[in-house]
Amino acid sequence: MTQSAHVFDGLPGPLLDALRVLARTPQLTVALDFDGVLAPLVDRPGDARGDSNSLKAIADLVELSGTTVVLVSGRSLDNLRTVSGSPGNVLLVGSHGAEYDIGDGQAGMSLTAEEKRALTELQGAMRDVVSRHPDARLEYKPAGVTLHTRGVNPDAARAAQRDASRTVSAAVPGVTHRSGKDVLEFSVVAATKGDAMQRLRLHTAATAMLYAGDDITDEDAFAALEPGDLSVKVGEGSTVASHRVHGTPEVAQMLRVLASDRRNHLLGA
Ligand SMILES: [Mg+2]
Repeated sequence: MTQSAHVFDGLPGPLLDALRVLARTPQLTVALDFDGVLAPLVDRPGDARGDSNSLKAIADLVELSGTTVVLVSGRSLDNLRTVSGSPGNVLLVGSHGAEYDIGDGQAGMSLTAEEKRALTELQGAMRDVVSRHPDARLEYKPAGVTLHTRGVNPDAARAAQRDASRTVSAAVPGVTHRSGKDVLEFSVVAATKGDAMQRLRLHTAATAMLYAGDDITDEDAFAALEPGDLSVKVGEGSTVASHRVHGTPEVAQMLRVLASDRRNHLLGA
């Protein structure tokens, strides 16, 4: 068999086969991480924008019956709305599954008094940390604080992350720690992207789901998938996902193939 029999549009043959099967499910939910999946990674998080080919494929998918698209991000819901441009009819999940805008009238989140108190203490502890590591940057989220070290030299980044872990563990015990690509995040709500997938499966009555992600926190989402679902790791790194693509251009191709297969299936072609 020649190489061309295995590869179409740069996508591996087994992934193309799996997409073809997924396209035939009655109620399809396509859930996608944003940074590193829809949008190329950039130094300044506010500059991230979705790949135009992916956005076009998403617009095609949401036009199809029995098809839901959701962005599932570690960003706060507000921030995700801004950088994603809130594509029409696309559901949004922010803060790793702690915030939802999925059309059920329960957008955002409400913290308990205890969580609010912990958040205030966490914010104070993190301000102390960046006063000792001025190259690191803080991002305040509704349920936590993220330490960003992208672009910081590796030794300084490690020192800042170590300091943050120790300081937060001592000051606010019980806070959830999540590490990702050049980020260390602390949250007073222990939600994961796996929780998000379970809620989305029920909310959308999905008969099959696709999840694509590039980072460590996406592994929770992969692990929450069930037989018949499709998990796609984007980029390098160990993963429990069953398929892998190189980067954001291949994600765009994958979404284009899925939209096309599903349209053909629904038209009875
Ligand atoms: Mg990501």
